[in-house]
Amino acid sequence: MHIALAGNPNCGKTTLFNELTGSNGYVGNWPGVTVEKKEAACSKDKSVILTDLPGIYSLSPYSPEEVVSRDYLLDGDASSVINLVDATNLERNLYLTTQILECGLPVVLGMNMNDLLEKRGDKVDGDLLSKKLGVPVVFTSALRAKNVNELVETAKKAAESNTEQKAPRVFSEKVEDALVQIEGIIEGVSNKQHLRWNAIKIFERDEMVLSRFDFDKETKECIEAIIAACETEFDDDSASIITSERYEWIAGVIAECVVPAPKKLSWTEKVDRVVTNRILGLPIFILVMTLVYYVSTSSVAAGTAATDFVNDNIFGDGWYSDDGISYVFTHEGEHMGAYEDAVADFEQQNYEGQIESFIAAAEEKGLDTEGVEEAATAEEPTAEQEELLASFVEAAAGKDVVVKDFALKDADDNFLDADGEPVVTIVKDGEEVPQLEDGQKLMTIDIDAEEFVKAYEAEEPSHEEFGNWINGLPVVIQNGLENMGASEAVVSLVIDGVVAGVGAVLGFLPQMFFLFCFLSFLEDCGYMSRVAFVMDRVFRKFGLSGKSFIPMLVSAGCAVPGIMATKTIENENDRRMTIMTVPFIPCGAKLPIIALLMGALVGGEGGWWVAPMFYFLGVFAVIISGIMLKKTKRFAGDPTPFIMELPEYHIPRFKSWLLHVWERLRSFIAKAGTIIFAASVLIWFLSSFGFAGWEGGTGAFGYLPSLPEAPEDFIEFSLLAGFGNAVKFLFAPLGFAKWKAVAATVSGLIAKENLVSTYAVLFGLGELGESATVLWSQINLEFTVNGVVHTGSLIAFMAFNMLCAPCFAAMGAMRNQLNNNRWWGFAIAYETGFAWVIALLINQFYELIVFGNFGFWTIVAFVALGYMLYMLFKPAPQAEEKVEVVVEEL
Ligand code: GDP
Ligand code: MG
Repeated sequence: MHIALAGNPNCGKTTLFNELTGSNGYVGNWPGVTVEKKEAACSKDKSVILTDLPGIYSLSPYSPEEVVSRDYLLDGDASSVINLVDATNLERNLYLTTQILECGLPVVLGMNMNDLLEKRGDKVDGDLLSKKLGVPVVFTSALRAKNVNELVETAKKAAESNTEQKAPRVFSEKVEDALVQIEGIIEGVSNKQHLRWNAIKIFERDEMVLSRFDFDKETKECIEAIIAACETEFDDDSASIITSERYEWIAGVIAECVVPAPKKLSWTEKVDRVVTNRILGLPIFILVMTLVYYVSTSSVAAGTAATDFVNDNIFGDGWYSDDGISYVFTHEGEHMGAYEDAVADFEQQNYEGQIESFIAAAEEKGLDTEGVEEAATAEEPTAEQEELLASFVEAAAGKDVVVKDFALKDADDNFLDADGEPVVTIVKDGEEVPQLEDGQKLMTIDIDAEEFVKAYEAEEPSHEEFGNWINGLPVVIQNGLENMGASEAVVSLVIDGVVAGVGAVLGFLPQMFFLFCFLSFLEDCGYMSRVAFVMDRVFRKFGLSGKSFIPMLVSAGCAVPGIMATKTIENENDRRMTIMTVPFIPCGAKLPIIALLMGALVGGEGGWWVAPMFYFLGVFAVIISGIMLKKTKRFAGDPTPFIMELPEYHIPRFKSWLLHVWERLRSFIAKAGTIIFAASVLIWFLSSFGFAGWEGGTGAFGYLPSLPEAPEDFIEFSLLAGFGNAVKFLFAPLGFAKWKAVAATVSGLIAKENLVSTYAVLFGLGELGESATVLWSQINLEFTVNGVVHTGSLIAFMAFNMLCAPCFAAMGAMRNQLNNNRWWGFAIAYETGFAWVIALLINQFYELIVFGNFGFWTIVAFVALGYMLYMLFKPAPQAEEKVEVVVEEL
């Protein structure tokens, strides 16, 4: 047996549902819309299946939530309805009740939040209320699990008695007369159970109901005459008559059934005076959120420590178990430190470089060096190799082989000058600071046979020497695969593709867990409803709803939870718009891109203004997109009026709190996880497969690293490079028609910070951080034309990457929340298109102002700017259109 659970938002439906079903049940969507549908069997009585309808205030046809609810109540499989109401807010809640009573199904009224009612001291005469409404009334407290099973029992009995629900006569005589007349007209064509419902809706001129009846012209006129007569009588339109008479009736019922306790300011009201205060509300909120953010994402937080730990250790090389738990927080363990020092020493002395240089010098002096290099660098030299080396060293000492100079690099790969200081290699404003090429030598040291022996005997420090080392997941997997005899390509697929991609995302889980804990707490205790209320005042000015604010805020950390947080926005248009625009906010992963740009622009110092600039760019993008989209037909209309009951403050129950956190994490893991998995594999494939077009290559297609004579920069021949070359013309107007820039952008789709490491790999620099000076100068060179750096193009490139389609995790979350492929495609296309236009404006106007370059694309830029300004300042279209769009989509 199906029982529907209907009621206003925040009346406690979900709490009741979870209490009764014990789980969060099956969560899906109603067909055709992104409204959540929840269904589960009662744990006490499995024969009863509860359907949690969306929270609504009325059964009008203006929002998808209302439409799915009314369709379900009229034509669904429910045998009875539990109408849950917030007993402390009867006026508003009973408005929906009067409409549910008209649907014809047996109804049971659940007077929820009875605990608060009692605390407040209000007295409600349940018997009288039951008589007035003509339905059983059960007082419950979903939060305290009081009377909830009785409520279901009563609903079950009501369903079994199979009596038709009689709606109370709510309206004045004149209106009731009109309704009787309409009932008379439609009697033959309307389902008997829905007769009164249909009559009322026809009286209200409800398009959706009218469209179900195929009235001929005469009937239409007859009905119209009945309605018009009433309207003249009341001097109001029919829908308003119905609404106000409902409220009048409710006021009468409440006056008879409720004896309110003498008024005094409740605790909640006192707190609300402060937190929703016109002046204090916003600063208090900013303070609260800053705290939440600071605690969950800054370095003091356990979440950040855990995320770092997961990323750097579990999904990295590994860690020392004897560094203890404090290592997790500080990342400074004794054993790790000792190991790192040893590695730095080893690299500082550049043993490999010494070996190579010495052998090269020996060869020049006519020594037989064949096999020596192999012997010197062999991990376990054979006896023969030992012998060969010994004789080589002896001969070299005799021949007096000495190497005077060779390039010495520090651990960061910087060349060192004669004082052992790193040489900064930057190209700035076209002026070249002397730059070292590989093989150029600055610091000069002597190597003779003795040094050579030391060098080849030196061993690269290994983790095991320094403590109890635990291998990271990639290492374990790699070893496992290699032991199983997996091919190089398979190992690379798993390690560089799957583990790197999926691991990067899973690493964020601990941080998200903490963030969600805080957010769920604030939501469950009732504070977030106040925030939405406070922010609504600000956002309304931009045509956005206050509820869009929280997702934006959360997105500054990561867009995925930000997009997930849009769940709380009831209005579908507002929610879609928020989902589309929040990825503009720079998330944590975009910080490395900003740092890279900062370095390339100003060499790492004095660039404090770059990061805030991109934050403002993000916020600016959200706001102007909001304004522009609101001017389009799709999104037109005032933001939904903000009616929302502010629930009383209370400490959330631990169980429901954790359930909320888990619900959010789960959808993140499941949906984002699958998309990321697929995308990582795809990018891996594109960047490691291609045609062997290099010198000596066969031109065959295959896994590049294992094709014969594959060069170090085999990625130049990958499908990714081919793709980059094919589409780079699209970016010519933005000033970066370079396949590397395109490839870096594409790799940024896996995770934005990938852009930096991909660039490093493409320049053949290996794994480099965003602070590496070599990388800065290389990027600077990329944007240098005829010795002049085109800063505008560089900024345009970065701006494009900040604004275009977000990473796959965020795209997965968008797909999940939009639940519609066409909208999803539109959202991503909009973001990318918007990014393109902004980058175009930056590049073209910079070129025009600084270099005086004027061309076809400059004109396009002016046109685009003009269009944007037009969209920003043109008046908004009529609000009514919005209703049509919603209806049309259903
Ligand atoms: P829904 O929007 O109808 O699904 O409402 P929720 O189940 O999300 O509940 C809204 C808020 O009211 C939550 O913070 C609940 O903890 C709280 N709540 C629900 N039922 C009760 C109740 O019986 N008593 C009290 N004091 N609070 C309740
Ligand atoms: Mg709910």
